[in-house]
Amino acid sequence: MISNRELFLKNTAQTSESPRLIEIEKAEGSYLYGPQGQKYLDLVSGFNVSNIGHRHPKVIQAIQGQLDKYLHVTVYGEFVQAPQVQFATKLLENLPSSFGSVYLTNSGAEAVEGSMKIAKRYTGRRQIIAAKNAYHGSTQGALSLIGGTQYQEAYAPLLPEIDFIEYNNLLDLDTITEKTAAVIVEAIQGEAGVRVPMAAYMQALRARCTAVGALLIFDEIQTGFGRTGKLFAFEHFDVVPDILMLAKGIGGGMPLGAFVAPKHIMDVIKANPMLGHITTFGGHPVSCAAALASLDVILEEKLIEDVERKAKLFRQELAHPKIKEIRGLGLMMCLQVENFHQVYSVSKYCADHGVMIDWYLHCETALRVAPPLTISDDEILEACQVICTAIDKFC
Ligand code: PLP
Repeated sequence: MISNRELFLKNTAQTSESPRLIEIEKAEGSYLYGPQGQKYLDLVSGFNVSNIGHRHPKVIQAIQGQLDKYLHVTVYGEFVQAPQVQFATKLLENLPSSFGSVYLTNSGAEAVEGSMKIAKRYTGRRQIIAAKNAYHGSTQGALSLIGGTQYQEAYAPLLPEIDFIEYNNLLDLDTITEKTAAVIVEAIQGEAGVRVPMAAYMQALRARCTAVGALLIFDEIQTGFGRTGKLFAFEHFDVVPDILMLAKGIGGGMPLGAFVAPKHIMDVIKANPMLGHITTFGGHPVSCAAALASLDVILEEKLIEDVERKAKLFRQELAHPKIKEIRGLGLMMCLQVENFHQVYSVSKYCADHGVMIDWYLHCETALRVAPPLTISDDEILEACQVICTAIDKFC
């Protein structure tokens, strides 16, 4: 019989020459399980998705409840679907009052596309500014925002009138002018290797956007839903963006994204022409039921309150002379080593010894550590021991 691994390589599209090829049969809590009894402590969380762990019972219950009612019924924005309405309402209750409207999408990239569209329509301007080394997704619009990387050249032509600033550099803010429709930045740059900006930078960025009438759009697709020790990372900086883009951890493991804006900004997609952003599956009712349950879990189980303490425990246990720096905020962490060979060898050793870690798209010299927020202290100790042994061996 042909194995699933062979069929994976033969029949499903490959995104690299060297996929990790780890086969998963089941996932529960902080663990992934393979078909031959392998057990991996998951420090990647499906790339910041499984913030409340895998298959949280309350999410499973919400999904099952929705399965008994309806699945897809129509395109987004026509029928009144309780899971969408209830989730959007709960989300807005937990955001500053300037936000008044939630558009639910399939993915992060779609949230980015929608945000760029409303920014252009609302301001009547065309220029969008993004940060070098950003990652906002893989559709052609979102890919246009990856400054100065090989992806831009490979898929040219991308969107016109995109300009770039250096992230966290106060001296670059003059690039933002009265011509700028929006500035799109990650609240913490993830794929650049977890770059946490200065609060003073975020505040100056906010002030500059306000002064020239440009919209400030934060990508919280990696940082949202408790990951950094606040429900949203912008809370660390005492700054409120005009538009917020969400995905990944939003759905408790189900596919969902959103862009959130003040109602008068969001309303521009209603007319001239109407239906300015259309999505068939965006805000799928099962995903929204899961998202509502997941947000309830984050808030009711007070997961955020323990994030900083767990992050400290990680930092204490990973204090190893060969780890040059641990960057990050809360449980969005990055262990800086010297080269990709070390990153690859350490990741492989860890996987072979039951701990899943990974690396970053624009920073191949650092290890990605982003466990479920529900990870226990014992699991943290166990994971750090394996990582330190691997660092001893390969760095
Ligand atoms: N923005 C950030 C910061 C991301 O990390 C990602 C995905 O990794 C995206 C946007 C795109 O999200 P999606 O893969 O759901 O399209």
